[in-house]
Amino acid sequence: MRAPSSPRFASLVLDADSTLASVEGVDWLAGLRGPVLAAESAVLTAQAMAGVLPLEAVYENRLSRIRPTRRMLALLGEEYVRSVAPGAAACVAALQRMGVRVVMVSGGLRAALLPLAAHVGIAAADVHAVDLSFDAGGTCTGLDGAQPLARNFGKPQVVRSLGLPAPALAVGDGATDAAIRPEVAAFAAFTGFVRREAVVAAADHVVASFDELRALVLG
Ligand SMILES: [Mg+2]
Repeated sequence: MRAPSSPRFASLVLDADSTLASVEGVDWLAGLRGPVLAAESAVLTAQAMAGVLPLEAVYENRLSRIRPTRRMLALLGEEYVRSVAPGAAACVAALQRMGVRVVMVSGGLRAALLPLAAHVGIAAADVHAVDLSFDAGGTCTGLDGAQPLARNFGKPQVVRSLGLPAPALAVGDGATDAAIRPEVAAFAAFTGFVRREAVVAAADHVVASFDELRALVLG
């Protein structure tokens, strides 16, 4: 039995895109390159998040067509902060005050996610995401070596390697988040921005806001 005042979960694994913020980062970057690329990217992202296509089948394809620059990633960083989920920063602060370890595990681009993490109070060392390599002019040349989070089963692999305090709760909107379920005590589908029925069906809990998430963790 947990003490009445102790949280239900000792750790929280948070997705970023369409969970901590309303943006799908790679699609947003595609939009900077024009509406045709944006529409193509959105279709691929939706298929990967619904579990129809494996993430690795779309990740490098999208990147090689968008060819993001460091400047574009800085703009995306600002967009993430502008589109942060209501109540996210307050939720993270409240959980951390109660001793809950909060980490971000994202298939998004680390350089763009760091400002969002700082905004909600997650340390850079607790941001697990995808690193890119760049040419001398600052244009992306591809993934920076092996990037497990650009693959379908990268999230469970990374969560296992973190050795988080148990019990842990994973939260996200996508199929790659639901795939964490075997590595944690529970998975919550986040439906605040997008509701994907396959993800909801695989979830132990469904939360539509960070206030609901806070209540789920703190009871
Ligand atoms: Mg997501």
